[in-house]
Amino acid sequence: MTTLLYVQPNSDDHVTPPGHPERPDRLKRLKTLFDSDRFEGIERHEVEPADYALAETVHSAHFIEQVLSTRPAEGIAQLDPDTYISPKSLEVASTALGAALSALDSVMQGEANNAFCAMRPPGHHAERDKPMGFCLVNTIAVAAHMAREKHGAERVAIVDFDVHHGNGTQNIFETVPDVFYASSHQAPLYPGTGDASETGVGNIVNVPLAAHSDGSAMREAYNDRILPALNAFSPDVLLVSAGFDADTRDPLAQLDWGPQDFAWVTGKLMDIAERRCSNRLVSLLEGGYDLEGLADGVEAHLNMLFKGTTTG
Ligand SMILES: [Zn+2]
Repeated sequence: MTTLLYVQPNSDDHVTPPGHPERPDRLKRLKTLFDSDRFEGIERHEVEPADYALAETVHSAHFIEQVLSTRPAEGIAQLDPDTYISPKSLEVASTALGAALSALDSVMQGEANNAFCAMRPPGHHAERDKPMGFCLVNTIAVAAHMAREKHGAERVAIVDFDVHHGNGTQNIFETVPDVFYASSHQAPLYPGTGDASETGVGNIVNVPLAAHSDGSAMREAYNDRILPALNAFSPDVLLVSAGFDADTRDPLAQLDWGPQDFAWVTGKLMDIAERRCSNRLVSLLEGGYDLEGLADGVEAHLNMLFKGTTTG
């Protein structure tokens, strides 16, 4: 059993305006990290694009029409104040989908314990009807849908440790009792959702964290709220919205997490995946906008996924 690494080949082709935090340099930095000797033992997988039309499994016709009609022939067009689309952006979103779905296939078929997909743009802000927050398709929502439809998973859990609340994922699944969604996030902060009172049909757990709180507040949130609820839900597969913008260096948020905190939460999620679903865990990159904070967080996350699967 092993850990699989999926690295998006065409990440440079989704272009955002100068100064935009969600930029090709994020994946360039990660590709440099993955080329280091420390990652030699991790199996790389080729990424094939999936059909962007798979977005229809979780988004409305209006969503797809908005994205397709805004896509420019040249230059960069704007979907909302933060969200941009360039001529080849949907090809990039398609390889993000392809990586996620191939990782899901491998993990569900028992070819690997877990997988991490290094990809952009992020997806967790994309609601059923609204592309927003840098997101052109809610990739993790499509993966959750396919886990149920293609692989027969009865219960799918999504845990989101990106510093922002995954309003899109919550919006898509808040009335679906067999999909669990838990998020830790800074509040108040964009997008403004994720109050602890938002519980869906009993399938949603939101734990807001105060600005400048550190890893100890995060550990308390996971130990007291998220991990017990996840364990009780007992998923057939665990999907992770892995954002690294809770790092203390991140320019878009003010939490004070470090690499050791990303390692800790990864280990705890792996413990539950081992106990409840034969280790099946698929992790998708969401945010993380300080290049070094992103690289250090991903390294800690991947080391833990890999260590867990090699030492048993
Ligand atoms: Zn984020």
